[in-house]
Amino acid sequence: AKGAGRNTARFFNPNMQKTIESRMALETALRQALFKGELQLFYQPQIDQNGRCFGAEALLRWRRPGHGLVAPLEFIPLAEETGLILPIGQWVMDTACAQIKAWEASERTRFLRMAVNVSARQFHQPDFVAQVQASLERYGANPHRLKLELTESVVLENAEQVVSRMNQLRALGVSFSMDDFGTGYSSLSYLKRLPLDQLKIDKSFIRDIATDPNDAAIVRAILAMSQSLGLEVVAEGIENEAQRRFLCENGCHRFQGYLLGKPKPIEEWETRPDL
Ligand code: C2E
Ligand code: CA
Ligand code: CA
Ligand code: CA
Repeated sequence: AKGAGRNTARFFNPNMQKTIESRMALETALRQALFKGELQLFYQPQIDQNGRCFGAEALLRWRRPGHGLVAPLEFIPLAEETGLILPIGQWVMDTACAQIKAWEASERTRFLRMAVNVSARQFHQPDFVAQVQASLERYGANPHRLKLELTESVVLENAEQVVSRMNQLRALGVSFSMDDFGTGYSSLSYLKRLPLDQLKIDKSFIRDIATDPNDAAIVRAILAMSQSLGLEVVAEGIENEAQRRFLCENGCHRFQGYLLGKPKPIEEWETRPDL
């Protein structure tokens, strides 16, 4: 009886009850967010060594009534667990493709590339390739403008199928970036196998790059390796000039970070002078 009491206490403590309730509330609200039009894409500029903007990363935001602007890390994990990431990911792809098409109308924006984050669950949907193709066609978006950002969690399993899907999309003109590079386990082995175009150096390596010799050495190694593999590199999380200068001096010429521009709604974004 004593043991059962302890178990009861363990399973029904008030904190857990609260956690379960807020999780359920979050799930219910997230289910509705999509058809209520509460999701929005922000766009963060990607800048080259001449200070010109060459593209943008689409970053999801949720305008949740009573909660303000909710960041993706607060709801994407739940969306992945519940499968809601599938309709949400589809909405992101559609919205990004519509934006690619809209950019085509102006000289200033027609060459911009759009980077879209794809979660593992989304990529491993049996009809993922067809879904991306359908989004592109629905909006008449140029596939060469679309770059899909994959994380290591996407490519960890079923390597053959991953490569085959990537190749099918590449045949359409879509390109691929490996996101958060350096943070996973098997980074080096998959680089050889996957048909990638770009690496994004994770911001955790960039933060202390100008002061920490270990981070500096890691980033130099990533840059050297990318160069010999013919991969383009984007450094993310650049917040100050010292970081940008270090990267420039070591051969990295594409940047993303608060120093160059924060993620913004499209209306604010398109008035940038560097476009
Ligand atoms: P990520 O793909 O690594 O995106 C970069 C994150 O770094 C973004 O956070 C961006 O706002 C932030 N960031 C950009 N510049 C700086 C900087 O200079 N300093 C610092 N400290 N941070 C910077 P955000 O927008 O909160 O997104 C977090 C993550 O959520 C993303 O990380 C991505 O994994 C995921 N995510 C965002 N949008 C989507 C989406 O549409 N689909 C999926 N599946 N995941 C998404
Ligand atoms: Ca990303
Ligand atoms: Ca990243
Ligand atoms: Ca990340």
